[in-house]
Amino acid sequence: MTRRKELAWIDDELSTLESLGLRRRLVERTSPQGAQIVVDGRTLLNFGSNDYLGLAASHELRDAARESLVEGGWGSGASPLVTGRGSSHARLERELARFEETEAALLFPSGFAANVGAVAALVGKGDLVLSDSKNHASLIDGCRLSGARVQIYPHGHWPTVEKYLEQSGGFRRRLIVTDSLFSMDGDVAPLVELCELAERFNAMTLVDEAHATGVFGARGRGLCEQMGVEERVSVRVGTLSKALGASGGFVVGDSSLIEWLANRARPYVFSTAPPEPFCAAALAALAVVRDEPWRRERLLERSRWLRDQLAALGWQTAEGKSQIIPLVIGSPDRTMASAARLREAGFWVPGIRPPTVPDGESLLRISLTVDHTDEMLAGLLEAVRRLA
Ligand code: PMP
Repeated sequence: MTRRKELAWIDDELSTLESLGLRRRLVERTSPQGAQIVVDGRTLLNFGSNDYLGLAASHELRDAARESLVEGGWGSGASPLVTGRGSSHARLERELARFEETEAALLFPSGFAANVGAVAALVGKGDLVLSDSKNHASLIDGCRLSGARVQIYPHGHWPTVEKYLEQSGGFRRRLIVTDSLFSMDGDVAPLVELCELAERFNAMTLVDEAHATGVFGARGRGLCEQMGVEERVSVRVGTLSKALGASGGFVVGDSSLIEWLANRARPYVFSTAPPEPFCAAALAALAVVRDEPWRRERLLERSRWLRDQLAALGWQTAEGKSQIIPLVIGSPDRTMASAARLREAGFWVPGIRPPTVPDGESLLRISLTVDHTDEMLAGLLEAVRRLA
């Protein structure tokens, strides 16, 4: 309870959140990230991380970060355009461009910063952005900050995008923004159709591959690779913080695009460059993605198996085969009660509530990592069966 009079409204607001079942509590994980974690003193099987390839606590990343730390120290000390960009940042950007087969890459402190910065640098007043209704908060905030007119289209519904583009003659620039793999529903954007529309109407496309980088595509570059549209997408964003187990975000594309963002993306220009050990860890992760395709193959095999089993139990999991599997429950209270029951049974499965998902669509978000064993998945399945 706050004692400051001018902040007393916060207690009222928190009580309102509580009564709506929407108040969030901080949790503390006291073990390294992994398929099994310790939270609040309890050991739980972890179905709530984005560490899809099991790299976050791996010795590969630890060793790389340690070596960089010992050699070059921790802090970067300045924003990248001043003196913050060291040789690890430059090397990571070169390696990202090589990995993604683009002319250039730009490193941001986070995926959130990359999305906000890129969208707001690409469009402004007099422009139109078409944004999927289930896009990540960072894309939404980028759209809002840009000052452009924002039209939200129903999730994945490209015919509505077509309709908006047909009426968009009065705008200076047009931009379609979408996640490739949606972070809560685990389904996939209609990238081919969106690219076709963009080409027809001379619109730009920005695709956020946050949850697909390292997981999809023959080389692990994401869903643009898998769906054969890499060359057709104007701007690709990824994160180093999910499958790559490190931290930070990036944009890849033509060198003119990257130069423009380095000049105009405010979270790039005005934020301190990440510590060099971040970059060292990300470089080690990129090498694993390149050299060990079995990780993503096994992850997706397991994901498909679990989806099939859940469907057989009567759950409507989204189409596809991604490693993010939602169990839609509906009300926040019932969702959190189900998450608590799973926790009692030894499973950490986060309950996801508004504003992360729309009203009435609260869900349990199961996410898999390659380190989940068959026994762990069978255990989860049995616990979910008992929920019903
Ligand atoms: N895009 C999507 C789709 C995400 O889910 C997230 C993270 N939740 C981000 C971007 C932001 O990435 P980061 O965590 O690196 O800031």
